[in-house]
Amino acid sequence: MIVGSLPKPSWLAAPGMLYAPWRVEQEGLAEAQRDAIQLAVADQLSAGLDVVTDGEQCRRHYVWGFLDAIEGVDTKNLAVKTTRGGRFRKESPAARLLTETPAYKGASRSVDAIKMVRQMTELPVKATLPGPMTVADSLADEAGQRSRAELAMRFADLLNREARAMVAAGASIVQFDEPCFNIYVDEVGDWGVAALERAIDGLEVKTAVHICYGYGAEEVAAWKANNRDWSHYEISLPLVARTSIDQVSIETAASKVDVGVVELLAGKDVLLGVIDVGTETVEPPVLVADRLRAALAYVPRDRLFASTDCGLVMRSRAAARGKMRSLAEGAAIVNAEA
Ligand code: ZN
Repeated sequence: MIVGSLPKPSWLAAPGMLYAPWRVEQEGLAEAQRDAIQLAVADQLSAGLDVVTDGEQCRRHYVWGFLDAIEGVDTKNLAVKTTRGGRFRKESPAARLLTETPAYKGASRSVDAIKMVRQMTELPVKATLPGPMTVADSLADEAGQRSRAELAMRFADLLNREARAMVAAGASIVQFDEPCFNIYVDEVGDWGVAALERAIDGLEVKTAVHICYGYGAEEVAAWKANNRDWSHYEISLPLVARTSIDQVSIETAASKVDVGVVELLAGKDVLLGVIDVGTETVEPPVLVADRLRAALAYVPRDRLFASTDCGLVMRSRAAARGKMRSLAEGAAIVNAEA
């Protein structure tokens, strides 16, 4: 399976950029997004994946798609804020929180997307949402200057409402994306995992958390090239291992993470990132198989699932298709050895 996002067709949004604005007028946008979902699902099915997503075709950004369902948040007139601890860039565009009491308006367009994907395939459908710590980090709080912890707890309840709507729409897995678990590592144990537990409370499907080192953007690649400390997972994963989450998605292809770190996830399904989302080069299936075999020294075969490092949104559609095919073929090589 992929982590979540796929590139959008160029008629829907400019390729190769984060936060790309829509290229379709408001009145035709929902229809265009539905067409793009059809293509995203078709690409995953023809690549031979076993779990499919909506390719996140109706979100400009993975956090804003959810925030559009929240009363009191402005995702159009943006602020700027230092997010992700300033790791990748000084400032990023940030949605503005305008009220002390944000409320759930009702299902976002992504819930309709899940419904649609459910009708297109018998395979399990994975729904993706930002995690509460990452939502809190991504908001400019203009109503209260509240702490990240406070905001995360409040938004965990709202995320839970949206997650329940996704389950009702047919999701078999609900995944929360928490790149911030690899940034504010000291806060993961203090309140990050508690907020995550709140977000997954009562969900009667498989739950997953995705923890990565960011998209395939240039500044992320530059940070990775210069980074010497890859110990974040050593702190975050044991904490996640003690939660009731079912699956943990981590990246091992593009970073210098020692794959032995998956040993810390005993008892969880490991969604192992074996595809680099920061390059157009398509990994050959034999390389994908090698990466999976390396993990088998630390995780039982029935707990290991082949995945991408992160979302493929920044890639060309051709590269994304190629990478998904290699992912499926590499996994098939290793499965044949069982
Ligand atoms: Zn990611």
